[in-house]
Amino acid sequence: MTVLTSSRPLDVVADFPAIPDGWAYLDTAATAQKPQLVIDAIARGYDTTYATVHRGVYQRSADMTLAYEAARRRVAGFIGAAENEIVFVRGATEGINLVATCWAREQLKPGDRILLSMLEHHSNIVPWQMAAETVGAAIDVVPLTHDHRIDLDAMAAMIRPEHKLVALAHVSNVLGSVLDAKRATEIAHSVGAKILIDGCQAVPRLPVDVAEIGCDFYVFSGHKLYGPTGIGVLWGRAELLEAMPPYQGGGSMIDRVTFERTTYAPPPTRFEAGTPHIVGALGLHAAIDYVEAIGLEAIHAHETALVRQTRDALHGINSVTLYGPEDAAGIVSFSIEGVHPHDIGTILDESRVAIRAGHHCAQPLMEMLGVPATARASFGVYNGPQDIDALVKGIERVTRIFG
Ligand code: PMP
Repeated sequence: MTVLTSSRPLDVVADFPAIPDGWAYLDTAATAQKPQLVIDAIARGYDTTYATVHRGVYQRSADMTLAYEAARRRVAGFIGAAENEIVFVRGATEGINLVATCWAREQLKPGDRILLSMLEHHSNIVPWQMAAETVGAAIDVVPLTHDHRIDLDAMAAMIRPEHKLVALAHVSNVLGSVLDAKRATEIAHSVGAKILIDGCQAVPRLPVDVAEIGCDFYVFSGHKLYGPTGIGVLWGRAELLEAMPPYQGGGSMIDRVTFERTTYAPPPTRFEAGTPHIVGALGLHAAIDYVEAIGLEAIHAHETALVRQTRDALHGINSVTLYGPEDAAGIVSFSIEGVHPHDIGTILDESRVAIRAGHHCAQPLMEMLGVPATARASFGVYNGPQDIDALVKGIERVTRIFG
């Protein structure tokens, strides 16, 4: 593994066996490629060390349990949380659904309100709609500023005591806008609302400390943090998790079962029914080791510089419209006049440039922007100026093809 102390260029592409020479992978916001360190941790988890956790009386299982719980400790340290507040879930989607089911459906009453923002990913909209429909609550939407940030002044003006829950993205997966999560939390708490932050795009790009933010719940997915799919994290304040009923029933989450009555284990075990994604947790542990060895500050500086270079280059092409703020974190969405984003993606692929084209699971945001879709380039630790050159040349080719 290559670790540089200087902020840029990171020059770590050699750590990523799935990125061949000359391929510009610009879809990290969808999922990050995996460094060899993570692949090795997963392989090691399955070959000489594999066994179940929490149940075995034999040494191998006891060792695996220690490794699984060490991963939980590593996650806790990574985001400034306590170990018993880390619930392993499948990903951010499951983390949000867990809170919508076990907190919102339990706590909200008819007439209560939930506050979201215009730029949320569907996974931070639909679970709240489902909970709101069940309990008779309503949803309000914070608008964006002219440069496509969540408008916290507007939020402060519109929030009222009926708002019991606020759920906002820390970094937008479409626009790269970074939320002032601390201020958003203060606004939510000013009316007694709880706040969940969707940190999917933030944890791979910025240092995150939930204690410093002061929020109530925080979720993210392992696969966007250079770790495996199928593992993610819900962090919740201990007192909130303790007051929540289980999400699913099954093995591991119980204290005692009889046919008359079952009592539940304390959190986080209460929320981890069934055999967990054991090796996924080991892979996530390795992924956190990887990003922390590079340093989140260095990653942030690196990606901010790449965004800057990309935006500067694309500002020079007349037919290109850029979305999001100039200081976006690692993500640039754009469109080209008269060209469907899917055509942009297909033509760029011919030049070995991989971008995302579509609504990015943010249809309300697309409607606000007045487009059916955008093209999106998103960066990771392995990208460098050569990828931006390839992207810009590819876009110039698109504009030539479409005249
Ligand atoms: N929120 C944001 C901001 C995201 O970018 C994503 C993934 N695109 C999600 C939530 C959902 O994550 P997952 O599909 O890994 O559960």
